[in-house]
Amino acid sequence: MTHTRRSFLIQAGAAAGIITILPFAARADGHMSDVFADGAIKVHPIAHASFVMETPKGVFYVDPVGDPAQYADMPAADYILVTHEHGDHFNVDTLAALKTDATQMITNPGVFAKLTDALKSNTQVLANGEAAMWGEIGVEAIPAHNTTEERMNFHPVGRDNGYVVTVAGFRTYISGDTEPTPEMLALKDIDLAFLCMNLPFTQTAEQAAEAVKAFKPSYVYPYHYHGRDGDVQDPELFASLVGDASDVKMGHWYGDDHG
Ligand code: ZN
Ligand code: ZN
Repeated sequence: MTHTRRSFLIQAGAAAGIITILPFAARADGHMSDVFADGAIKVHPIAHASFVMETPKGVFYVDPVGDPAQYADMPAADYILVTHEHGDHFNVDTLAALKTDATQMITNPGVFAKLTDALKSNTQVLANGEAAMWGEIGVEAIPAHNTTEERMNFHPVGRDNGYVVTVAGFRTYISGDTEPTPEMLALKDIDLAFLCMNLPFTQTAEQAAEAVKAFKPSYVYPYHYHGRDGDVQDPELFASLVGDASDVKMGHWYGDDHG
């Protein structure tokens, strides 16, 4: 983590296409954030597959792993979503540090089976295709799995989740670890999407861009784009392939390194 101060960009009035650039002192760890829906939604990329999303109906932590100190400046989690059991998405110790008595957690069945009894309390299991609501919050579990034969062992069919989170009509798709699935390609009315890409575990930048061109989220973050043996799926290539199909947002998922 760097400790430099820097300016960052606040995108206000996104629906109206108004972009305001303000000089801002970024948080000391160098994370940057973006706002959507006239400031109602605020996204804080943390690292790789982990982010925090503030909404008018609660604060969501997605796949929090690693040092809990990364979240020290964040508001407490009202909801924690865990997509699947791999270590870059799921860590029992991190969850134990971040989950409060008031936190609702949502996991796939495989992660639930690996939780401590304390973490199982107030945790809802959603299998592929299942959905639940908490007040005005809706969460749907979207199948996340490989489709390329030699990658099937990483994320087999039926085990892992992506999620669509709906908050007061604003719909966010979190891919989890997947290649394009029929359910992903058929998504409708997605305002904001997070698309994984890396090899050999998930998909290429080209596959992710093809998927985005099918379901056309208003905004999309490439995330989870460093893989094994130095693999980096290039988020700039992804952006160029997506073209006008979606507004591509870049997060500092790997410190100062965009690549
Ligand atoms: Zn995985
Ligand atoms: Zn992963």
